[in-house]
Amino acid sequence: MIVKKILANDGIDNLGKILLEEAGFFVETQKAPEGHLAETINAGNFDVLLVRSATKVTSSIIDACPSLKLIGRAGVGLDNIDVKYAESKGIKVVNTPASSSQSVAELVFAHLFSGVRFLQESNYLMRSQGDTHFGELKKKFGAGTELKGKTIGIIGFGRIGQAVARMAIGLGMDVVASDPFITEAIIPLHILPTGQDIPVPIRTCSLDEVFQKSDFISLHVPGKVNGNAVIGQQEISKMKKGVGLVNASRGGVIDEDALISGLDSGHVAFAGLDVFENEPTPRTELLRHVGISVSPHIGAATQEAQERIGREMAENIIQFFANK
Ligand code: NAD
Repeated sequence: MIVKKILANDGIDNLGKILLEEAGFFVETQKAPEGHLAETINAGNFDVLLVRSATKVTSSIIDACPSLKLIGRAGVGLDNIDVKYAESKGIKVVNTPASSSQSVAELVFAHLFSGVRFLQESNYLMRSQGDTHFGELKKKFGAGTELKGKTIGIIGFGRIGQAVARMAIGLGMDVVASDPFITEAIIPLHILPTGQDIPVPIRTCSLDEVFQKSDFISLHVPGKVNGNAVIGQQEISKMKKGVGLVNASRGGVIDEDALISGLDSGHVAFAGLDVFENEPTPRTELLRHVGISVSPHIGAATQEAQERIGREMAENIIQFFANK
C-alpha cells in the first residue's frame, strides 16, 4: 500500500495525528518556510494539505501542487482557501464546522461577564494601584450589573449563535435572535441530574427587534455583507443606550470607527472583541480602549475544541481515502 502523506502546515492536535498515523498516514507537522509552501508540498509529494487560519491556500499554490487531493481547514471559516478554484481542479476541501461552537460561546460569555463588572479595566488598574488605591478602585468598579434577567440579542443564529443561546437560557437570560435563513431553532437544554435534553424553541425576529430589545448583542455571522459591516453607526443608534456588544465572528463585522464613537459617546457601555479588521495588527485605539475587553482571536483555541477538531479532521481524511 502506498502511504498517503499529510502536511499539517499549521499543526494538528496530537489526538488527530495519532488517529491518522494509526490509520497508516504519514503526518508532517514541520511548517513550510515562509514563501516556500508549494516547494515543500512538491518535495514531499504530499497528498493532503492541512491548515488553520494562518496558511493561505491560493489558486497559484493549487496550480503549483498537482499531488494535492485534499485540503483540510481545521476550524470553521474557509476564507483563507480558494475553495471554488480547488474544487474546479478536483481537489476536495473539508473543514470541521461544529467542533468549536462551545468554545466560542464560552468566550462570548467571558467577554460579557468581563464587561458588566469592568474586569477589562479593573484587572489593569488593580495591577498598578490595587495596593495603594484599593478603596477608590472598589468605588470605581462598584456599580456592575448581572446578566440574569437581561436580554441577549444574537445576530446569526447558526451553530455558534445557538450555543450562545443555550448558555444564555441557562443563565436566566431572555434570547432574541435574527437570521435571514433560520426562522426557528430548537435549543436543547441539557439537565445534568437527569441527563435529559429539554427542547426550547426560539423563533427568530427582525434585526430592528433585536436592536430595540437587547441589553447585549453578540454577532455570529459568516462575515461582512457585500464588503459592508453588519453593525455601523446607524444600527448602533437603534440599540438601547448602554448596550454591550461582542464580536467573536469575523473582524470588521462591527464597523470599528462606529464602535469607538459609540463607546466614547456612552451609547455603547462596553464591547468584547476576539476578532479585528486588521489582524494580526489590530488598531491600537481598540486594544487600549478601557471599554473593550480584548482577546487575540482565540474563540476556538481551547484544548477540548482542538481535540474535537483533530478527531473530526482525522475522520474526514480517513473517510475520504477509504472511498477512493
Ligand atoms: P454558521 O454557518 O453555523 O452560522 C452563521 C449564521 O449566520 C447562519 O445561520 C447564517 O444564515 C447567518 N447569517 C448570514 N448572514 C447573516 C446576516 N447578515 N445577518 C444575520 N445572520 C446572518 O456558522 P458558525 O459556525 O455559527 O460560525 C459563525 C462565525 O463564527 C463565522 O464567522 C466563523 O468564522 C466565526 N468563528 C470564529 C471563531 C473564533 O475563533 N473567534 C471560531 C469559529 C468560528
